[in-house]
Amino acid sequence: MTSIERFIAEISPKRPILLLDADEVLLRFVERLEVHLLTCGYEIRLNSFQLSGNIYRQETGIPAEPLTVKELIAGFFDACSHDVPLVPGVTEALSSLSAPYDIAILSNIPDRCRARREASLRSQGINFPVLSNQGGKGPIVARVAAHHDAPIVFVDDLPPQHKSVAQYAPDIHRVHFVADPRLASMIDKAEHAHVRIDDWPTLTHHLRNHVME
Ligand SMILES: [Mg+2]
Repeated sequence: MTSIERFIAEISPKRPILLLDADEVLLRFVERLEVHLLTCGYEIRLNSFQLSGNIYRQETGIPAEPLTVKELIAGFFDACSHDVPLVPGVTEALSSLSAPYDIAILSNIPDRCRARREASLRSQGINFPVLSNQGGKGPIVARVAAHHDAPIVFVDDLPPQHKSVAQYAPDIHRVHFVADPRLASMIDKAEHAHVRIDDWPTLTHHLRNHVME
């Protein structure tokens, strides 16, 4: 049974579901990636809302090629999946939101890193299932939504993921959330999200109201 099949089997069709991205929603991904890349001889210069093109070889000041960026990020997940710090306010927020919602973490990480990420979150007090995905999240969200009779909320930092979910599961409430203030300042609300919120206290308030409407 895959992580998604197990989650679907265990949820109650009458309870609201909260599907949370991990990196830049629960976890300070870019901050930790920066530290890791320095140990590999690369630095991030956040000139725009993307990593590709913004990672530079320190020695030469030359931007890393797309293939190198891909390899560096894969190396980061192998080396650091277990060791990425939480965004402020997450612990309190999720303990409050687990009353009205069934919560799962829907993360685009390699399958081989899923259990490590789940264990790492658990060690930081975040004890919810981690569902691993590759590519657009719309199809997997649509699978959760099929036959579900209560509201579902999707939270992610990446605009293409909001587009994907809007396409496959249009009825789902979509929150665009960008934890890192530098990244947040570089991007407007995703076109296919319903609302933009960048901090956990405000998001908690919004999500509690959403299921009380
Ligand atoms: Mg993310």
